[in-house]
Amino acid sequence: MPIYEYEPLGHDCLMCEGRVEVIQDVGAEPLEFCPYCGLEVRRVISRASVQMGRKTDYDKAATRGYTTFRRAGHGTWERVAGEGPETIQRDDDGKA
Ligand SMILES: [Zn+2]
Repeated sequence: MPIYEYEPLGHDCLMCEGRVEVIQDVGAEPLEFCPYCGLEVRRVISRASVQMGRKTDYDKAATRGYTTFRRAGHGTWERVAGEGPETIQRDDDGKA
């Protein structure tokens, strides 16, 4: 089954590092909401950026105004690319 890529729609996603990869049947309905954070996402059609590596993905996202955070520890995310704080502290109990 193919892997489809989704990106956040109008928000910064902290749970899935800005991109989500989901394995779906061919012809399956595109997801409307991120399976990790439950926020709105849209499917990314092009696979080209994926083959260029994650770092490039982050930089590309930054140029489009997205900020990418990488989970650095319990309740802590650090900025990988884009504008924003260096780190984010967040409760890790799922109630955020
Ligand atoms: Zn998400």
